[in-house]
Formats: sequence, C-alpha cells, structure tokens
Amino acid sequence: MITPRVSPTPAFRTMKDGREICSNTAAGRREYQARREAMWFRDSGICCLCKQPMSLIEATFEHLNGRGAGGGKRDDRMEPNAVSHYFGNQAKGSISLYRWLEKPLHERIRLCLGR
Ligand SMILES: [Zn+2]
Repeated sequence: MITPRVSPTPAFRTMKDGREICSNTAAGRREYQARREAMWFRDSGICCLCKQPMSLIEATFEHLNGRGAGGGKRDDRMEPNAVSHYFGNQAKGSISLYRWLEKPLHERIRLCLGR
C-alpha cells in the first residue's frame, strides 16, 4: 500500500467569517489556479466584466467584492467570484462589480482588451 505524501501546510485557510484565502505556497497556488479553471468552466468561459468569451489561458481570478486594502476583504472561494480578462481585472482594481457595471458595455470591452 502506498501512503500519499501530505503537504504540511494547507492549500488555503478559512477565516472566522467563512472567507477562504489560498496560501502563498506551491500547494496554495495550485489550489488558486484550480479554482480559476473551475470557475471558467462553470461560467462557460464568459468574462464577468465585459460578457465576452475568453480562452482559459486569458482568464484571471476576479474577486467580485474586491480584495480590500491589504487584502482585508479577500475571499478566494468560487461561489462569490468569477473569471475576467487580465486587463479588465487590472482596470477594475478593488471596486465592486456593481460599480464596475455602471460603465457602458463598449467601455468595459475596450478596457478588457487593454486599449
Ligand atoms: Zn472581459
């Protein structure tokens, strides 16, 4: 019988309020990427910021409620989050999706394309 090696550090930790934060370790980074991929499949490859399709390689982990100053609001669970284009993710920064969606669609598409 083969005994699997178990990482001494967990891939993520759960906060008292239920938020999950992936660890800054190899296991944590794998977990974060696995969640990004799972959300891309769940959301049919549609960017939550511009509603356009994107490839899995383009998809970044979008924290819909922002991450807060110093990551104080960070929540890496899949349920409250989605995937987005890299440039859109950068442009959105830490504002909420609600505020982001006040921008006209053509503006959001332009920002997602990095123009
Ligand atoms: Zn987009």
